[in-house]
Amino acid sequence: MDCDGTVSDGASTLRLDVEQRFASRFIVAPKLDVPLPPGGFLVLFGPSGGGKTTILRQIAGLERPDRALVRWAGETWCDSAAGIWRTPQQRRVGVVSQQPALFPHLSVRDNIEYGLGAWPPDRRHRRSDELLELLDIADLAVRHPRALSGGQAQRVAVARALAPQPQLMLLDEPFAALDAPARIRLRRDVRTLLRRIGTPAVLVTHDRGEALAMGDLMAVVIGGRVRQTAHISEVFSRPIDVEVAASLGVEAVLPAQVVESGQGLVSVTIGSVLLQVADRDGVAVGSDVYACIRAEDVTLQVQSAVHVSTRNHLAGRVVSISPEGAVDRVSLDCGFPLDALVTHRASEELKLEPGMPITAAIKATSVHLVMR
Ligand code: ATP
Repeated sequence: MDCDGTVSDGASTLRLDVEQRFASRFIVAPKLDVPLPPGGFLVLFGPSGGGKTTILRQIAGLERPDRALVRWAGETWCDSAAGIWRTPQQRRVGVVSQQPALFPHLSVRDNIEYGLGAWPPDRRHRRSDELLELLDIADLAVRHPRALSGGQAQRVAVARALAPQPQLMLLDEPFAALDAPARIRLRRDVRTLLRRIGTPAVLVTHDRGEALAMGDLMAVVIGGRVRQTAHISEVFSRPIDVEVAASLGVEAVLPAQVVESGQGLVSVTIGSVLLQVADRDGVAVGSDVYACIRAEDVTLQVQSAVHVSTRNHLAGRVVSISPEGAVDRVSLDCGFPLDALVTHRASEELKLEPGMPITAAIKATSVHLVMR
């Protein structure tokens, strides 16, 4: 990394070192130092009330904490010790929240052009034409916000935020209020668009599927602090501690590839292991996906017993057994790491011990695929 915070592969570094105390005594004190390439997505993920929105607002310049250092791509946006403060406009960030907050008396086009008051009119129109096209809302240009669906309104909000060519997009659960089909379509479109135009983004979400679908890097925020920052698959495969693991949901998230599809099933490979998965979303052969498997959906058998409803029987070995309240967590090596949760009684009956060979059975309906 260069000394000005710009990294040589074209990524810009986002650096945060902030301490903000609320009257409630809750402290939001993130420390972050992450490179974001053009079009890269950093996901702020964590439980409700952990401080994700506050951190996004600190980056945007919508919070003014007593002690703060915020830098982006070598620019200092806030340095309380040196008395430096840049307004949100000076930071050139585009903010989109859960509610689109459009101006009700303005048309879609005028909403998009709202932040371009200083531009000459022809350039302004060219820019709004471009965004209407990019967000696939050209046919809505003359409509007013009350005549838009939630998904359409959110597309306008994204277009408005992108209009002044921000250097960083800040997205605060912008898809959360939409129904599932609109949510999935819009998040895919926004991700593709930001990749294409090379604008990096920070996205707040507490939806694991959304984090996986959108994110490259992930910062896990719990109790006002960033507890782990890494590539998304690294966070899921190696959560830094139990609290982070718990916030992610107890699940294996494994990079996989779709190799076959037909008759309601798809086959995926995880390394050299083949798994059959119920085909819910019609994923295409050749797609890169994450295969998500919850520990409670993995059952253990000493002998390979073929049960009609259980498609996948994986030969593995017990790595460790650790008690977790009423159950035991059994960590396995099946060619990839996998956890199973079993009752103490089952654990005793199977005479589980580290090193012993075991068969892990997983129903095809218990594996969830998320596009990478
Ligand atoms: P959610 O996912 O529910 O939106 P979050 O992780 O985004 O949660 P924040 O909205 O940042 O969390 O809130 C973190 C904590 O800071 C909460 O306890 C909240 O009550 C507190 N907080 C946020 N803003 C203020 C404020 N202006 N005054 C007092 N407390 C605040």
